[in-house]
This record gives sequence, structure tokens and C-alpha cells, in this order.
Amino acid sequence: MGLNVIMMGPPGAGKGTQATRFARERGLLKISTGDILRDAIKDGTTVAMLAKTRMDRGELVDDATMIEIVRQRLTRQDAMCGFVLDGFPRTVFQARALDTIMEERSNGPLVIVDVGVPEDELVRRLACRRICSNCGTGADPFGSASTCKKCNGRLVQRTDDNKDVVLERLKIYQSSTRPVLEYYRSRPTFRTVNGAQAPEIVAHELDSMIDEAFKEAMA
Ligand code: ADP
Repeated sequence: MGLNVIMMGPPGAGKGTQATRFARERGLLKISTGDILRDAIKDGTTVAMLAKTRMDRGELVDDATMIEIVRQRLTRQDAMCGFVLDGFPRTVFQARALDTIMEERSNGPLVIVDVGVPEDELVRRLACRRICSNCGTGADPFGSASTCKKCNGRLVQRTDDNKDVVLERLKIYQSSTRPVLEYYRSRPTFRTVNGAQAPEIVAHELDSMIDEAFKEAMA
């Protein structure tokens, strides 16, 4: 049975960092829809360029495109031991589609974790966030390096991390993605963690709540 995790939370909550770490430590496939879109933009496909226009405005990419991307990844053989999803689902429509995919896949429960952080802290974090222009890795938010520690690429601000776009993304998070939490909240595998703590404390709390939710679901 696979361990399947959804990392939820507003932009800047640190869910990408935690998703990457958790997937690496547990040998699970990490699927970040934001990273997949940014990679596709580098390749310059038509669908990706349409997505870029929306992303740069802080808007969501359409449900059909996103569901197709996730369906393709989740039905791959390397997703069968389990996965960590970061950035999906962002709408209730996507959450319903994911339930259908999970039923078809029939391979382990879905553990949902919401990483909560107050809005003023999110705005502050996003204004400082830098990623590698080459490999997309997030830079240490407390460091002062100008190049990526993994590949030496140049660190840049994401095109959707400027203040106006950040405010728009937070607004869209409230209107489209918050309802997804309500969609999941009554499930026995739903958990919340306080993301406004040091990353290693968040990591520790996350690990125990995911393990406990998985065990409970399998009992
Ligand atoms: P964040 O750091 O804000 O959580 P991501 O890197 O996950 O951002 O996503 C960046 C952008 O990519 C989003 O603002 C949105 O435009 C698009 N995107 C990513 N995932 C989805 C999704 N599931 N549905 C719609 N749009 C998405």
C-alpha cells in the first residue's frame, strides 16, 4: 500500500520545502504542479505559454490542464509506492477529480496536511523568496548567497512573487483553494500543522502526524 500525501497551504507556507524533504526521506514521488509548469515554460510549449500568462498575473491555470498533468504523473509506475503532491488540488473541482483518480488507482489512503501561516508573514516571506534560475531549487531564506548551492545557477525572484501578484495569489487562494480545505476537513486523514515555526519543528510535527494518520487509516 502506498503512502499518498497532499501538502496544502497558502503560497509561501513552506509546503514545497516540506514536500521535497518528506518525499526524499521516504522514497516517494514528489509532484509539484508549480515546478512542472515552470519546467514546461522553459520548453516553450503552447499550453505552457498560455499557463505562464495566467501564472504571471497570479491567476490559476485551468482545471482541465492541471488535472491532465496530475493524472499522467499519478498513473506512472514510479508513483505506485506513494507520492507527495504540492500545489494540487487548488480547486474543489480538482479535488473531486483527484478522488476519482485515487479510486481508479486503488493504492493506499490519501493523507491531507494543511500548513497554516498568517497572511502578513506570507507576504514578508514571498517578498524575500529566491529560486535558482537554472534548476528551480528554493534558496535558503536566511542566507545571503547569490548562486544556487546545488548547481551554482543564478538566484532570482519568481516572476509571480512581486507584491501585487502575491496579493492577487493570496486573494485567489482564499476564494478558490480555501474551500478545498472544507472539502477535506471532515476526513479522518486530515491534519493541520502550524507552519509559522522553524522548518525543522514543522518537519518533525508533520512526520509524526502523517505517520499517525496513515497508521490509523490502515488499522
Ligand atoms: P506557490 O508557491 O504560490 O504555492 P506554485 O509554485 O505551487 O506556487 O504555483 C505557481 C502558479 O502555478 C500558481 O499561482 C498557478 O498559477 C499555477 N498552478 C500551480 N498549480 C496549480 C493548480 N493545481 N491549479 C491551477 N493553477 C496552478
